[in-house]
Amino acid sequence: MGIDLSIASVSKKFGQFEALKGIDLDIEKGSFVCLLGPSGCGKTTLLRIIAGFEKASAGQLLLGGNDISRLPPHKRDFGMVFQSLALFPHMSVAENIAYGLKLRGLSKLKRDDRVAELLEVISLPAIADRPVSALSGGQRQRVAIARALAVQPRLFLLDEPLSALDAQLRDAMQIELRQLQQQFGVTTILVTHDQTEAMMLADKLVVMKEGEICQQGAPQDIYRQPANAFTAEFLGASNILDASASDQGQVQLSGVDTVFRTDAPAGTALKLSVRAESVVLDRAPHLSSGPLGEVEFIRNLGASTEILVRTGVSTVRVRLPSRDSILQDLRVGEQVALQFDAESCVVFRADAA
Ligand code: ATP
Repeated sequence: MGIDLSIASVSKKFGQFEALKGIDLDIEKGSFVCLLGPSGCGKTTLLRIIAGFEKASAGQLLLGGNDISRLPPHKRDFGMVFQSLALFPHMSVAENIAYGLKLRGLSKLKRDDRVAELLEVISLPAIADRPVSALSGGQRQRVAIARALAVQPRLFLLDEPLSALDAQLRDAMQIELRQLQQQFGVTTILVTHDQTEAMMLADKLVVMKEGEICQQGAPQDIYRQPANAFTAEFLGASNILDASASDQGQVQLSGVDTVFRTDAPAGTALKLSVRAESVVLDRAPHLSSGPLGEVEFIRNLGASTEILVRTGVSTVRVRLPSRDSILQDLRVGEQVALQFDAESCVVFRADAA
């Protein structure tokens, strides 16, 4: 496939504050990359540097091998959907979509053809002449995406494009966005703080924390093998439990040996990451060798049920299908034991970055 954009040692300082600390990232041609991280981690700043709205304090951007670090935004030939780059309110839908094409000197006939084609693609064929002020939030977002894709951009950049939509519409738009991106084959970079969105859209997931990349890779790989507690926690639904290494090289949880082994020296502080859906509840605790706990809270979430179990040092989140018979007559206060599925647990040192 080849590298499309290469971000090399990019840093950004705002006064004394280091918003980005030496970012290295290669973006493959035609891929969908999601920058994921909590508020303030620097993902928007990185996207703005790629777009050319912000200048890096150090480092380089290479597009197809050419240094574009000093190129102004309008010469970069990128399509953008930023929260701050709204549609032109005084124009119709068609005029909005055709805007970039007009700037490029395309004839009216060609513009009309392209607009019709894009409206078809975004499943809104009948709204060309409507003023954008008359559109719903979801329709506006679709038009903004069509406007950005109209000029066949070299890169497609999106900053939280779906965050203002309600959950159901966001879900539908995520699918649509992924299909559009594949159809156009355009290299895409999307910023989000929503891990589900990132998991569903990305070919490559880039998890950021405090101006640095803390892990990058295929979403499933990161989900299965988080490199540290931050990533595991940020990707959701994980229990991060305090553990330690025993003399025999076992991982101990609340003083009880688990099935996991570690090569860390005895006494090393560890973290055990285990997904809520990978914890097994054992209702015959006296027969079990697993850590014991007390059911603290039960909530039915529809298809699944979540149970919080208080063990010696922490509360463990367990998630089971609501129709699982083990849940029958389960009550707050009941004593249970926990079993962990070794396949889906990850152990790291507590100080892993
Ligand atoms: P969010 O999801 O909240 O937008 P983010 O990860 O996109 O967060 P950025 O907007 O990139 O974060 O900001 C990173 C850090 O840089 C923040 O601490 C922010 O306050 C700071 N920052 C961003 N722009 C400026 C600026 N123009 N001047 C000073 N500090 C800034």
